[in-house]
Amino acid sequence: MSGPLHAPTDNSPVTLNMMTKTERNALLQFDHAHLIHPYTSMTNPLPVFLVERAEGCELALADGRRLVDGMSSWWAAVHGYNHPVLNDAITQQLGRMAHVMFGGLTHGPAINLARQLLALTPPALSKVFFCDSGSVAVEAAIKMAIQYWAADRQPQKCRLLSFRRAYHGDTFAAMSVCDPVTGMHTLFERVLNRQLFADAPRIAFSATWHPDDIASVHALLSAHHHEVAAVIIEPVVQGAGGMFFYSPHFLRELRRLCDQYQVLLIADEIATGFGRTGKMFACEHAGITPDILCLGKALTGGYMTLAATLTSTQIAETISRDGGAFMHGPTFMANPLACAVASASLRLLNNSPWQQRVYAIEQQMTEELAPCRLSAGVADVRVLGAIGVVEMKLPVNMRTLQPRLVELGVWIRPFGRLIYLMPPFVISAAQLTVLTTAVKTVVNEIAAQS
Ligand SMILES: *Cc1c(COP(=O)(O)O)cnc(C)c1O
Repeated sequence: MSGPLHAPTDNSPVTLNMMTKTERNALLQFDHAHLIHPYTSMTNPLPVFLVERAEGCELALADGRRLVDGMSSWWAAVHGYNHPVLNDAITQQLGRMAHVMFGGLTHGPAINLARQLLALTPPALSKVFFCDSGSVAVEAAIKMAIQYWAADRQPQKCRLLSFRRAYHGDTFAAMSVCDPVTGMHTLFERVLNRQLFADAPRIAFSATWHPDDIASVHALLSAHHHEVAAVIIEPVVQGAGGMFFYSPHFLRELRRLCDQYQVLLIADEIATGFGRTGKMFACEHAGITPDILCLGKALTGGYMTLAATLTSTQIAETISRDGGAFMHGPTFMANPLACAVASASLRLLNNSPWQQRVYAIEQQMTEELAPCRLSAGVADVRVLGAIGVVEMKLPVNMRTLQPRLVELGVWIRPFGRLIYLMPPFVISAAQLTVLTTAVKTVVNEIAAQS
């Protein structure tokens, strides 16, 4: 390996790296030839940018360019990068142990983190399962639901009811509950479990509620409740499937239908959890408690991969009636480094004025993205909490748009027809203006080209 990444000494500003252009190109060439990046060709991938450091709300590229971060590294880095408190938590824990198995052993970092999570979530949730990633948390949630009904001597209740445009992760059970069209169902049709799909919620967050919006769920549950273990849903925000914010009434009605038809409710708050929508958890917009809750992404403040599946005493007691065990146990379950940094991240969040910050981001994005509505190529502009979305009428061209955004000094990663922002909560007003200005610029350029 050439070109060590030079870390600056304390307090020094982000330093430009010491690599020559030739060294950087050699790294990028190796990457191009051998590394697989997400959702792109294995042989002709979309170009990538080499990052040397990240600090606060900025990414420093190896070529010296600095980008304001509009993505929080996929919902995760809510406190920004290279945070001294989080660095310290991980370093302290590293001095004690990086990892021990969770079978037969336990440790302070996991216990402390579970205590914090239970204090933040509804009182009915009392059991915490720590795992490595969001997709695995969804797998665990699905297993819990199926084991619950099997232990209740209703093993035929083993299907899931999900929604069009849903996204719940990339592993097989998680994939089976993703949108059947834009998800990967065609590719894996023969091996995926066949789940039930209701229409996606259509009534927007602040729009007037109408019961028609949930009619398809009602029809499916009334016909299939005897074979349905659980409904799984992303509360309030359908994320990767379209960044749509729907009415919290939908969730309240869904909770009621689940109770009426004796079906469990799984809330996947992997994206929405920890303040992103303006509430600590998106379920709070509707005042509902799910039977099973999945958390991930921002749980560690974006430092390490860690997720959690929470459930109630009643579900746990049913599964373990007659001595039944919950059948999952990843090698790196409750990794102490990840738990320690998650604990510190939650403390940081709790001790910060995050509600005001998210509200200020919401106000500023609402104001500064509004002019995009006037652009010919734009179908919709919407903002909820620290999520700002410009939905175009046509899919964007990533091969040209991504480098253009980098040229404008921002890290924004559009997908499909969506150009969207979800900055770290600690972003300054000036930095946020850099992001919204870049969005307006590219939206106008797209309009001018068509
Ligand atoms: C990202 C995400 C997942 C999957 O999490 P990974 O950590 O990527 O496996 C699941 N559900 C939702 C709602 C997500 O946003």
